[in-house]
Amino acid sequence: MERPGPATRVIHSGEGKSYQAASLTTPIYETTTFVFDSADDVRQYQEGTSQKFLYSRYGNPTVVATEDVLASIDGAERALVFSSGMGAISTTLLSLLKAGDEVVCASAIYGGTYHLINGVLPGFNIGTRFVTLEALQAPAEVIGDRTRVVWFETPTNPTLRCLGIRAVAAACRARGVISVLDNTFASPINQQPMALGVDLAMQSATKYLNGHSDVTAGVIAGSKALLQGIERTRRMLGTVLDPQPAYALARGLRTLTLRIARHNENAMTVATFLEGHPRVARVFYPGLASHPDRAVAQAQMAGFGGMVTFDLPGGLPQASRVYDRLKVIRRAASLGGVESLASLPVLTSHWGFSDEALARAAVTPGLVRLSVGLEDAADLIEDLAQALEG
Ligand code: PLP
Repeated sequence: MERPGPATRVIHSGEGKSYQAASLTTPIYETTTFVFDSADDVRQYQEGTSQKFLYSRYGNPTVVATEDVLASIDGAERALVFSSGMGAISTTLLSLLKAGDEVVCASAIYGGTYHLINGVLPGFNIGTRFVTLEALQAPAEVIGDRTRVVWFETPTNPTLRCLGIRAVAAACRARGVISVLDNTFASPINQQPMALGVDLAMQSATKYLNGHSDVTAGVIAGSKALLQGIERTRRMLGTVLDPQPAYALARGLRTLTLRIARHNENAMTVATFLEGHPRVARVFYPGLASHPDRAVAQAQMAGFGGMVTFDLPGGLPQASRVYDRLKVIRRAASLGGVESLASLPVLTSHWGFSDEALARAAVTPGLVRLSVGLEDAADLIEDLAQALEG
């Protein structure tokens, strides 16, 4: 992973003084605007012939330094950061789609993405179509004449189904359609989106990228050509990330590789323990031989990630009992942080779904989803063992 280079050596204070300072880390440029020396200076900025900045909604050194690191982790030419994962998704879709276009989206998708595509985009006369993972396995057949974007996730929430990325990306490319992968669950350490052929890789940086559950942010990475228009839309929508969280995100990124290795290891240990437990009906983890998509995962993932879901035969009453008894694993939504978290999908991500919709998503009332953190794996197993006794 590339690190940002040494920070500026000359610091100009707001009072007009200059200092020499070679900062090891990229400082937080907590400023909304930037000072010019002359009209010529401004012209050079506008013509793109200077490295200067004008206004932080357009660009800020701390933010750009973070974007450079994110681009290199994704193997992309460029990355853009946003005020949230949803900021990244909405800005990208509103930039790529115009009235009359269609977006095809996997039906197993993050709820916010679903509501944006299903509830907001039709108001702009943008066509929307949701297709099953099975249908996406023959991607050429789901692309229509008006399709401009195909949006999908793998592994999916909460049963961690995996879809062959190469096939979707290749079918899109052959038809001039833009493929976008939400890579949040895997992280680029486990799944390299650009190498697998997608045009754009999106992530909620709120999760593994930051990794400490203290920043809300999003990222989209891809070619300079595609990101140019998205960056312009970001200026208009005002969905850019502030310098302070951009700094915190960059700090999280420094340990991403180490954290993901431990997430992978702990999750595999926890999944194996749960699979052997007599009170657990089923475990969903792409690294287990029992997972229906293990071969797909093995073909495109360097590690199987930190998310583990299990099903309890006693339905919601048993799942609630186990959830309530947890002592080390915290009861909270979200994922990807250093602390292990548990959530009950029927009460969180799939709240309010009809029985039919739950069945389509293969979400049963006894599901417990774990974001396995970086604790000692023995402590996590002891916690789960005592919770399952109840
Ligand atoms: N994509 C996935 C897979 C997510 O899990 C989430 C949030 O949970 C998002 C996108 C949205 O990200 P954010 O909450 O940072 O807006």
